[in-house]
Amino acid sequence: MMYHPEKYAIADERMKPFIDESEIWGFISQTKPTKERVREVIAKSLDKNRLSLEETAVLVNVTDTELIEEIKQGAKTLKEKVYGKRIVLFAPLYVGNFCTNNCKYCGFRTTNRKQVRTTLTDEQLVKEVEALEESGQKRLILVYGEHPKYNAQFIADSVRTVYQVKKGNGEIRRVNINAAPMDIEGFKTVHEAGIGTYQIFQETYHRETYASVHLSGKKADYNYRLTGLDRAQEAGIDDVGIGALFGLYDWRFEVLGLIRHVNHFEACYNVGPHTISFPRIKDASEYEIVDKYRVSDEEFTRLVAILRLAVPYTGLILTAREPMEIRQEIMSFGVSQIDGGTKIEMGAYSKKEEDQNLDKEQFKINDNRSLGEIIDELLDKDYIPSFCTACYRTGRTGEHFMEFSVPGFIKKYCTPNAMLTLAEYMEDYATSEVKAKGIKVIEKNLAEMEDDTIKKNLVERLTKIRAGERDLYF
Ligand code: SAM
Ligand code: SF4
Repeated sequence: MMYHPEKYAIADERMKPFIDESEIWGFISQTKPTKERVREVIAKSLDKNRLSLEETAVLVNVTDTELIEEIKQGAKTLKEKVYGKRIVLFAPLYVGNFCTNNCKYCGFRTTNRKQVRTTLTDEQLVKEVEALEESGQKRLILVYGEHPKYNAQFIADSVRTVYQVKKGNGEIRRVNINAAPMDIEGFKTVHEAGIGTYQIFQETYHRETYASVHLSGKKADYNYRLTGLDRAQEAGIDDVGIGALFGLYDWRFEVLGLIRHVNHFEACYNVGPHTISFPRIKDASEYEIVDKYRVSDEEFTRLVAILRLAVPYTGLILTAREPMEIRQEIMSFGVSQIDGGTKIEMGAYSKKEEDQNLDKEQFKINDNRSLGEIIDELLDKDYIPSFCTACYRTGRTGEHFMEFSVPGFIKKYCTPNAMLTLAEYMEDYATSEVKAKGIKVIEKNLAEMEDDTIKKNLVERLTKIRAGERDLYF
C-alpha cells in the first residue's frame, strides 16, 4: 500500500511526516561543543532532564577525546544513579523470511535468489518456542519479512500460538513484534492478540539515502514507514519501539532523527517510544552498502552514550549483532535489554548446532553465546539478569519512564522482580555452577535492600519459588 497523504496527513496532523532535514542539519552545523557547554548539557541530563535537539547536537559534535570520555562517563553515572543492576533478556524468533522489498543491506531482500525462503508452519513455530522455553527464555520478539503472507491476521495468529506453548515450567510471557508497518485496522488486529512492543526501525531518517537503499516494494515509501507507529498509536498500541540502522548515513544525523522521533511522540501522545534500537549494519548475503558511513566501534559506543544522556528514560536495546566486548561497554551506559542465546537462522532454535550460513540468515551476528553463557557472564559482572514482564502484565505502562521518574520504583519493583525471575531461571534451567553464582548475587542484593517490608515480601516469594511456585511478581 502506498502512503496516501490525503488519508492520513490532512485528516490528522499527527500523521504528518515530521522530519525536517534542514532543521537537523541546522542544529548540527550551528552548535559549538565548547567545554563549558558540553559539561552543562551532561549535567542537565544527570539532573534527570531529557535533552533538546540543540543540546543533543552539542554532544554529537564533540571531537575532543577528553570530552568524549566525559560523555561516556556521564552515561555510566546516569546508569548507576538511576537504573540499578538489572539487565532484561530476550530472544528474537524469525517466523518468515519471504520479502517483497529490496533493501540493499538485508539478506532477505527480494532479489537475493540465494536466500533459502521459509515460513515456519504452526508445528515448527511450536517447536521453536518449546526449544526457547527449555533454555529459559520468557520474552520473545517475533520477526517477519514484508510479504502479503505475513498480514495482520497471520501475525496475530502466530502471537497467539506462541503464548499457548507451555513446556515444563516454561512459558512465553511477553511477545514483541518487529515487522512492517500496517494500516490502522491491521495494527488493531495485532494489538488484540496481546502483543508487547511493536518495533519499526526507520533505518535512516535521511530521505535521499532512504530512497537509495530501498529500491522497490512498500518499504520504499519513506512517509508510510515514518508514520507507521502513529497509526499503531491510533490503533491503541501505545508501546512502540523506534530505531535507526547505523551505517547508512551520517550517524550524527540519525541520532538527531531518533530524538526528533521521540519529541514527536511526546508532543502527540504524551509518552515517548518505549524503546530505541540502534542496530549497526553487518555483513549479509547480497549486501550492497558502501563503506562511506560505516560507524567505527568508538563512534558507536559514543553514540549510544549520547542517546542515553539525551533520552534518559527511554529503554535502550542492544543486540547480538555486536560482539561481546562492545556489548560489555555499552551495557555500562544503561542499556535496558539485550538478547541472549540468539539464533537468526530460520528454525535454528530447535535444531542441533550448525555453523552460521549467511544464505539462511538476514545478517551476521557476532555474539553467538548461549543464554546460559550470557547469564553466567552477567552474574560475574554483578548484573542481575532479568526476565521480568510484571509491568506489562499488571498494566503499569510506560515503565521505563516510571523507573526513571518515580522515586523508589526500581527498588520496589524492578530489582525484586529481576531477582524473582532469576530465581526461577536458576531452579529450572541453570547449571549448578551458574546456580551457585545466582544464589550469591541474590543474597548480596537482599543484604543491600533498605526497605524491610519489600525485603520480607521478596524473601517469602523466593521461598515459594524454591518450593515450586512460578510466575510471582510485584
Ligand atoms: N522486515 C521488517 C522490516 O524491515 O522492518 C522487519 C524485520 S527486519 C528483518 C528487522 C531489522 O533488521 C530491520 O529493520 C533492519 O534495521 C535490520 N537489518 C536488516 N539488515 C541488516 C544488516 N545487514 N545488519 C544489521 N541489521 C540489519
Ligand atoms: Fe525485507 Fe525487512 Fe529485510 Fe527489508 S529489512 S529486505 S523489509 S526483511
